[in-house]
Order: sequence, then C-alpha cells, then structure tokens
Amino acid sequence: MNYKNGKYKIESIYIRNLSDKLGTPAYIYSYNKIKNNIKKFKNNFQKINPLICFSVKSNSNLDIIKIMKKFGIGADVVSLGELILAIKAGINPKKIVFSGVGKKSDEIKYAIEKGILLINAESENEVIEIEKIAKKKNKKVKIGIRLNPNTDAKTLKNISTGKKENKFGIGLKDFLKIVNKFKNSRYLNISCLSVHIGSQITSNKPYDKMIKIIQNTIDRCGYKFEYVDLGGGMGIKYNNEKEINYNKYEKSIMNFLKSNDSKIIFEPGRSLIGNAGVLLTKVIYIKDGGIKRFIILDAGMNDLIRPALYKANHKIMTAVKSKNFINKKHEFVGPICETTDSFGIFPKFQKLKQGDILIIGDVGAYGKVLSSNYNLRPSSPEILIKGSKYKIIKKRQKISELI
Ligand SMILES: *Cc1c(COP(=O)(O)O)cnc(C)c1O
Repeated sequence: MNYKNGKYKIESIYIRNLSDKLGTPAYIYSYNKIKNNIKKFKNNFQKINPLICFSVKSNSNLDIIKIMKKFGIGADVVSLGELILAIKAGINPKKIVFSGVGKKSDEIKYAIEKGILLINAESENEVIEIEKIAKKKNKKVKIGIRLNPNTDAKTLKNISTGKKENKFGIGLKDFLKIVNKFKNSRYLNISCLSVHIGSQITSNKPYDKMIKIIQNTIDRCGYKFEYVDLGGGMGIKYNNEKEINYNKYEKSIMNFLKSNDSKIIFEPGRSLIGNAGVLLTKVIYIKDGGIKRFIILDAGMNDLIRPALYKANHKIMTAVKSKNFINKKHEFVGPICETTDSFGIFPKFQKLKQGDILIIGDVGAYGKVLSSNYNLRPSSPEILIKGSKYKIIKKRQKISELI
C-alpha cells in the first residue's frame, strides 16, 4: 500500500484504474497487509503463545473473518450477529469469546448451545442470567468476569473503557464478591479474568498498571483462573503516533506468568486490520471560500464516522501525486448536512480538480462497520485485493434496498 512512480498502489493494482471500474466511495483492503499484521502480532507475543481472538466489531466482513480463521485466529464477539458470523466464517467455537455489557438471554442461549470458549460477563445480574440458562440446559458453562481495573488508557476519552466511571466491567470489591459467590456453582465454571481498558493505546504504562492490578486482584481472590484475557487496544500509526513497545509488554506478561499458570487471551481489532484498509473517494466540487478551500467529497460521515465521532485524524492522499501545491487551508468535507461531516483541515494540499480520486488512509478498523444510511445514502462496497486480483466482498447497496 504505497506509491510507485507517484501513483498509489495496493499490492499489484493501481488505485486510479480500479476506482473507474468500481465507482466511489469504496472500501479497499489488502490481503497481504492483513496477513503481515497477523504474523507481526504473533511474533510480538511468541513467548506467550496466546489465544488471539479478533475483535469482530472492528471489521465484520465475512471474507475478512475468513482470513483471520485461515491464519489460526479466533473471534471476540459482542452480539448474536457477530457470533453467527464468526461461526459461519468457520471459526472453531472453542476459539470464540463473547464480551459486552448487555447480552440478552437469546444471545447467551445461542452461545451456550454452540459451546463457545467463554462468555465474559460484565455484571452480577448477567452472571445470574447465564447460570439460570445453563441450569435449564443442564450444562456447566465456562465464564469470564470482566474486571474494571480503573486504569486510564491515556487514549481519546470516548474510546476509554477501563475507568470506574465507564460502564464496562466490574470493580474490585464486587469482582471478589462474585468470584466467591459463584466459584462452587454447579452450572458455572469461573475460568477467566478479563479486562479491556480502551482502544488506540500508544503507551505501555496503562498496560503495565493494568497487569499490576490484575495480579493484585488474583492475590486477593486466592483463586486460579484458567485464562487471563487481556483484551485488545493496541494503537496504530494514523499519523505520528507512537506504537506501544511490544517487547516491554511481552516482558511484563512473561513476568506475570511466572507466578500464574494461566493461558493468555488477546482480543485485538484495530492492530490487525486498521492499516489494511483505505476509503476511495472522488472530489465532487471545489468551493474556494475566502479563507478556506473546501474540497467536497463523495464520501461522508455516513461512510466513515471516526473523524466526526472521535475527532480522529486520517491521512488523506491523492491517487496520483503531483508537485503542484496550493498554499491555502484545505478542508475536506462530505456531502452530509452536518457541520461535523468533515475529514480534516490541512494547511496546504496538492492542487486538486473535480473528479480527482483521493484515498483516506487506515480505515480498516471501525470504518465500514460504523457506516450508516444517514441522508438515505447507500452503504459503500468493500473490495479485497490480493496480488493482481481483486474481489468484491460486499456489494454497493442499492437505493432501492433502502426504500
Ligand atoms: C473493542 C474491543 C476490543 C478491540 O479493541 P481494539 O482497540 O480494536 O484492539 C477488544 N475487546 C473488547 C471487549 C472490545 O470491546
């Protein structure tokens, strides 16, 4: 995914040519980038030999999940829909964990029927509900309990999940109470302590703190967990962000494992798929307002909501580079009738004209999955490139399907 002679290329395909065939906006993924991300992730934690469960909510395209499965990855799901999808992709239920604060009884029932590895519960009432259903089915069900470690992930406020004011997980006191109350249940096997402190984390400190709190919690429980699920959250480089030091993270986990005989689970989403996808879009109009040049695109916040929702900054690149720049503020906006429908302001930009193709970078995670039909706009297609071949892995929605 890079330029060759000034033209943006994904694997062996020039994007300018592809956009004529497929139309815009369109999500494009690189097969080999995904493969490399998986390989890197495994290498980073080689000594730990963890179970890696891809966070399906970050990208729930069936073909993408099938790639994960092909390389031995399991699934972390947060809804019945994601669970059905993961099973359809061929992922072994023994590699599926189910997270989320609001699982309904039909979702829990299905998970138990399929015999997934773990249901990670996030409240005492949920544990009671799981026990009730397990009893009805006369099964012993493995569950995890999600600890809220009250750790600041030092990430964007809206994607932080591990502080006590967040709705996720269970605080230390209640955690201890629940383990005690249910450890001898006939229908539940408390097998896992799970955490997930947030997303797009770029420093090791929150993880180090989290591991200390897990250790402290286990010491106070006096209970052996078969699994410790550390969640996901590893950040990627959208612009100049740092990446966490995987070597250090692995070391602190190794250290933890010296005194704990548990299997480690990870639930990465963004770090496996984020940088493997781009969004193609076309310049519809250019409006030269007094102090700003508005570049009006055919992709809007309905296609990619991260900038509007989290103030996320994505790179914007041209399909064909030139050295001709305009030294004026450029704001890239979508067609949606909302002021927040903006992909960012750049102090200067390459000279653009109507019909030019642009590439919004690093949208593989929380891109297509968060898209909507706002303004009654049809959902964009998804395309997977592998070498010199491409495959449409999700068709462009038709307006007739919406009406
Ligand atoms: C969203 C989520 C993840 C994945 O987070 P990333 O930042 O994409 O790695 C993992 N676990 C749980 C419980 C989640 O909600």
